[in-house]
Amino acid sequence: MTERIALKVDVDTLRGTLEGVPALLALLARHRVNATFLFSLGPDNTGRALRRIFRPGFLNKVLRTSVAANYGLKTLCYGTLLPAPNISERACDVMRSVRDAGFEVGVHCHDHVLWQDHVAAQSYAWTREQMQLAVAAFQRVFGERPKVHGAAGWQMNEHVPQLEAELGFDYASDTRGSSPFRPLFAGEAAFCPQLPTTLPTFDEVIGLDGCTEQNVADVLFEHSRTHPGPHVFTLHAELEGMRLRPAFERLLQLWLAQGVQLCSMRDLYMNLPPELPTYPVEFGELAGRSGRLARQVTVPLERRD
Ligand SMILES: [Zn+2]
Repeated sequence: MTERIALKVDVDTLRGTLEGVPALLALLARHRVNATFLFSLGPDNTGRALRRIFRPGFLNKVLRTSVAANYGLKTLCYGTLLPAPNISERACDVMRSVRDAGFEVGVHCHDHVLWQDHVAAQSYAWTREQMQLAVAAFQRVFGERPKVHGAAGWQMNEHVPQLEAELGFDYASDTRGSSPFRPLFAGEAAFCPQLPTTLPTFDEVIGLDGCTEQNVADVLFEHSRTHPGPHVFTLHAELEGMRLRPAFERLLQLWLAQGVQLCSMRDLYMNLPPELPTYPVEFGELAGRSGRLARQVTVPLERRD
């Protein structure tokens, strides 16, 4: 059977939406491959993310991946020196053009920085409000309810799976892991299947073990060949849609030459087996990324050290 790799495009900022997304649309159309785009729909408060500079590991990552070069100085001032622009108001035409070009569209978040920095410790009410704001903005842009949710920064809490079911999502991709599963929280299996991101991202591997922008496509390709799929590969409009676009195109070419079918996450969702395995979700560190994120626990709990 042909191997499938779903492309999940996270769109975090106004600039990424206005510049990275159209560039990715053109690139994906040129290679005739599908993808899922997940949008940040509320305010672009990227500048506030600089507070993370005081967290262990973040400064290291900034220096390693040249955040300023990738995001631009203006973006880094949104929410601090400059007011935060509302992304879905300023870029609704671009968002619609993605859907009109036949790609799956869904929710990344309302406010990326707020969600990423705070959701892990928040209540049901706080989480519900943030998710409802994103759903309402999505409906204003697209005239329909979103069906896929992919949490910003792989950050979530135990209320997120329940809210995904309540808000009418079909499935979600909030976690890192190895294969589609039904997440288990407090002993209860969630309604929405999780399609975790299974491959490392470009920004996680660049700068580690001799990996550079020049060979990152080959590193990722090797990783996908040596780990069984189906895979979900997450890319960012701000990175692979802009500065790292040549490297991303090379990865597409390597996969296509190998006969890999590049698809949307919905294509994977539609082909899920009727009975999905159930796994707990834990919060832990991942190589190349600062802080803790949600990941599938694939080792049974009783057998862990
Ligand atoms: Zn994001």
